[in-house]
Amino acid sequence: MGSSSSNMNNIPNSWELMQETGFSAAHLFRLHERFKFMDKDKKGHLRPEDFEAVQELSTNPIGDRIISSFFSPGQETVDFPSFVRVLAHFRPTEKNRSRDDTQPEQANSSMGKLKFAFQLYDQDRDGKISREELLQVLRAMLEMQVTEEQLQSMAERAIQEADLDKDNAISFDEFRKSLEKVDIDHKMSIGFMK
Ligand code: CA
Ligand code: CA
Repeated sequence: MGSSSSNMNNIPNSWELMQETGFSAAHLFRLHERFKFMDKDKKGHLRPEDFEAVQELSTNPIGDRIISSFFSPGQETVDFPSFVRVLAHFRPTEKNRSRDDTQPEQANSSMGKLKFAFQLYDQDRDGKISREELLQVLRAMLEMQVTEEQLQSMAERAIQEADLDKDNAISFDEFRKSLEKVDIDHKMSIGFMK
Protein backbone atom coordinates (compact mmCIF):
# COMPACT_ATOMS: atom_id res chain seq x y z
CA MET A 1 0.00 0.00 0.00
CA GLY A 2 3.08 2.25 0.40
CA SER A 3 3.24 3.42 -3.19
CA SER A 4 -0.49 3.92 -3.52
CA SER A 5 -0.71 5.95 -0.30
CA SER A 6 2.02 8.30 -1.48
CA ASN A 7 0.16 8.65 -4.76
CA MET A 8 -2.96 9.51 -2.82
CA ASN A 9 -1.22 12.70 -1.74
CA ASN A 10 -1.60 13.95 -5.28
CA ILE A 11 -5.37 13.79 -4.99
CA PRO A 12 -6.84 16.96 -3.52
CA ASN A 13 -9.08 16.41 -0.47
CA SER A 14 -8.76 12.65 -0.87
CA TRP A 15 -9.65 11.92 2.75
CA GLU A 16 -12.80 14.07 2.69
CA LEU A 17 -13.81 12.56 -0.63
CA MET A 18 -13.49 9.03 0.73
CA GLN A 19 -15.58 9.95 3.76
CA GLU A 20 -18.21 11.67 1.68
CA THR A 21 -18.53 9.17 -1.15
CA GLY A 22 -17.56 5.90 0.53
CA PHE A 23 -14.97 5.09 -2.11
CA SER A 24 -11.92 3.18 -0.88
CA ALA A 25 -8.45 4.67 -1.34
CA ALA A 26 -7.75 2.18 -4.12
CA HIS A 27 -10.96 3.04 -5.92
CA LEU A 28 -10.39 6.77 -5.56
CA PHE A 29 -6.90 6.31 -6.93
CA ARG A 30 -8.25 4.44 -9.98
CA LEU A 31 -10.86 7.15 -10.55
CA HIS A 32 -8.13 9.77 -10.36
CA GLU A 33 -6.08 7.90 -12.95
CA ARG A 34 -9.19 7.73 -15.12
CA PHE A 35 -9.83 11.44 -14.62
CA LYS A 36 -6.26 12.33 -15.60
CA PHE A 37 -6.54 10.14 -18.67
CA MET A 38 -9.81 11.81 -19.73
CA ASP A 39 -8.38 15.28 -19.06
CA LYS A 40 -6.85 15.75 -22.47
CA ASP A 41 -5.58 19.33 -22.04
CA LYS A 42 -4.23 18.48 -18.56
CA LYS A 43 -5.75 21.52 -16.89
CA GLY A 44 -7.36 19.56 -14.06
CA HIS A 45 -10.89 19.90 -15.42
CA LEU A 46 -13.05 17.83 -17.71
CA ARG A 47 -15.19 19.36 -20.42
CA PRO A 48 -18.19 17.70 -22.10
CA GLU A 49 -16.02 16.59 -25.04
CA ASP A 50 -13.73 14.71 -22.63
CA PHE A 51 -16.75 12.62 -21.60
CA GLU A 52 -17.89 12.16 -25.18
CA ALA A 53 -14.54 10.51 -25.89
CA VAL A 54 -15.48 7.71 -23.47
CA GLN A 55 -16.89 5.04 -25.72
CA GLU A 56 -19.29 3.66 -23.16
CA LEU A 57 -20.91 7.08 -22.78
CA SER A 58 -20.83 8.03 -26.45
CA THR A 59 -22.62 4.80 -27.36
CA ASN A 60 -25.08 4.94 -24.44
CA PRO A 61 -28.51 6.06 -25.71
CA ILE A 62 -28.86 8.43 -22.78
CA GLY A 63 -25.13 9.15 -22.56
CA ASP A 64 -25.69 12.86 -23.20
CA ARG A 65 -27.95 13.04 -20.16
CA ILE A 66 -25.47 11.16 -18.02
CA ILE A 67 -22.71 13.50 -19.20
CA SER A 68 -24.73 16.63 -18.44
CA SER A 69 -25.45 15.33 -14.93
CA PHE A 70 -21.74 15.84 -14.18
CA PHE A 71 -22.09 19.57 -14.85
CA SER A 72 -23.81 22.01 -12.53
CA PRO A 73 -26.13 24.40 -14.36
CA GLY A 74 -24.07 27.06 -16.11
CA GLN A 75 -20.79 25.21 -15.57
CA GLU A 76 -18.66 24.05 -18.47
CA THR A 77 -16.02 22.12 -16.56
CA VAL A 78 -15.94 19.45 -13.85
CA ASP A 79 -13.17 19.16 -11.28
CA PHE A 80 -12.11 15.89 -9.69
CA PRO A 81 -14.20 16.16 -6.49
CA SER A 82 -17.38 16.86 -8.49
CA PHE A 83 -16.53 14.00 -10.85
CA VAL A 84 -16.22 11.62 -7.89
CA ARG A 85 -19.42 12.86 -6.24
CA VAL A 86 -21.45 12.07 -9.35
CA LEU A 87 -19.81 8.68 -9.80
CA ALA A 88 -20.65 7.85 -6.18
CA HIS A 89 -24.26 7.37 -7.33
CA PHE A 90 -23.08 4.35 -9.30
CA ARG A 91 -21.20 2.79 -6.42
CA PRO A 92 -22.91 -0.45 -5.39
CA THR A 93 -24.95 -0.22 -2.21
CA GLU A 94 -23.41 -2.27 0.59
CA LYS A 95 -25.85 -4.92 1.69
CA ASN A 96 -25.00 -4.45 5.36
CA ARG A 97 -25.59 -0.71 5.17
CA SER A 98 -29.11 -0.79 3.81
CA ARG A 99 -30.23 1.24 6.85
CA ASP A 100 -28.55 4.19 5.16
CA ASP A 101 -31.49 4.33 2.79
CA THR A 102 -33.02 6.77 5.22
CA GLN A 103 -30.07 9.13 4.72
CA PRO A 104 -30.48 10.93 1.41
CA GLU A 105 -26.95 12.35 1.57
CA GLN A 106 -25.52 8.89 0.77
CA ALA A 107 -25.16 9.08 -3.00
CA ASN A 108 -25.15 5.31 -3.42
CA SER A 109 -28.16 4.61 -1.19
CA SER A 110 -31.27 3.45 -3.03
CA MET A 111 -32.72 6.91 -2.46
CA GLY A 112 -29.61 8.63 -3.81
CA LYS A 113 -29.69 6.42 -6.89
CA LEU A 114 -33.37 7.03 -7.46
CA LYS A 115 -32.88 10.79 -7.21
CA PHE A 116 -30.05 10.61 -9.70
CA ALA A 117 -32.13 8.49 -12.10
CA PHE A 118 -35.11 10.82 -11.68
CA GLN A 119 -33.15 13.88 -12.73
CA LEU A 120 -31.99 12.08 -15.88
CA TYR A 121 -35.65 12.16 -16.92
CA ASP A 122 -36.66 15.49 -15.40
CA GLN A 123 -34.72 17.69 -17.80
CA ASP A 124 -36.53 20.95 -16.98
CA ARG A 125 -36.00 20.21 -13.27
CA ASP A 126 -39.54 21.10 -12.26
CA GLY A 127 -39.70 18.03 -10.00
CA LYS A 128 -41.98 16.07 -12.30
CA ILE A 129 -41.50 13.74 -15.25
CA SER A 130 -43.92 14.91 -17.90
CA ARG A 131 -45.29 12.64 -20.58
CA GLU A 132 -42.97 14.30 -23.10
CA GLU A 133 -39.90 13.89 -20.85
CA LEU A 134 -40.67 10.21 -20.43
CA LEU A 135 -41.18 9.87 -24.15
CA GLN A 136 -37.82 11.48 -24.88
CA VAL A 137 -35.98 8.90 -22.77
CA LEU A 138 -37.95 5.97 -24.17
CA ARG A 139 -37.34 7.27 -27.67
CA ALA A 140 -33.59 7.56 -27.06
CA MET A 141 -33.35 4.08 -25.57
CA LEU A 142 -35.65 2.16 -27.89
CA GLU A 143 -35.67 4.14 -31.12
CA MET A 144 -34.33 1.37 -33.29
CA GLN A 145 -36.50 -1.35 -31.83
CA VAL A 146 -40.04 -0.02 -31.70
CA THR A 147 -42.32 2.28 -33.65
CA GLU A 148 -43.27 5.78 -32.52
CA GLU A 149 -46.78 4.49 -31.94
CA GLN A 150 -45.50 1.79 -29.60
CA LEU A 151 -43.40 4.39 -27.77
CA GLN A 152 -46.45 6.57 -27.28
CA SER A 153 -48.45 3.74 -25.80
CA MET A 154 -45.56 2.65 -23.55
CA ALA A 155 -45.26 6.20 -22.21
CA GLU A 156 -49.02 6.37 -21.75
CA ARG A 157 -49.08 3.10 -19.85
CA ALA A 158 -46.12 4.04 -17.66
CA ILE A 159 -47.73 7.37 -16.74
CA GLN A 160 -51.05 5.73 -16.01
CA GLU A 161 -49.46 3.14 -13.77
CA ALA A 162 -47.24 5.55 -11.84
CA ASP A 163 -49.41 8.67 -11.73
CA LEU A 164 -51.22 8.33 -8.41
CA ASP A 165 -52.50 11.91 -8.09
CA LYS A 166 -53.65 12.03 -11.73
CA ASP A 167 -51.85 15.22 -12.72
CA ASN A 168 -50.52 13.53 -15.85
CA ALA A 169 -46.91 13.63 -14.66
CA ILE A 170 -44.70 11.51 -12.42
CA SER A 171 -43.47 13.16 -9.24
CA PHE A 172 -40.38 11.84 -7.46
CA ASP A 173 -42.58 10.12 -4.93
CA GLU A 174 -44.57 8.39 -7.65
CA PHE A 175 -41.35 7.49 -9.43
CA ARG A 176 -39.96 5.95 -6.23
CA LYS A 177 -43.11 3.93 -5.60
CA SER A 178 -43.33 2.66 -9.17
CA LEU A 179 -39.72 1.47 -8.98
CA GLU A 180 -40.00 -0.13 -5.56
CA LYS A 181 -39.87 -3.60 -7.01
CA VAL A 182 -37.05 -2.86 -9.43
CA ASP A 183 -33.48 -3.59 -8.43
CA ILE A 184 -32.12 -0.05 -8.82
CA ASP A 185 -28.70 -1.13 -7.64
CA HIS A 186 -28.38 -3.55 -10.51
CA LYS A 187 -29.73 -1.06 -13.04
CA MET A 188 -27.27 1.57 -11.99
CA SER A 189 -24.08 -0.46 -12.03
CA ILE A 190 -22.40 0.57 -15.24
CA GLY A 191 -19.12 -0.66 -16.60
CA PHE A 192 -17.81 2.91 -16.59
CA MET A 193 -16.99 2.40 -12.93
CA LYS A 194 -14.71 -0.57 -13.43
CA1 CA B 1 -40.02 17.94 -15.71
CA1 CA C 1 -48.60 12.56 -10.69
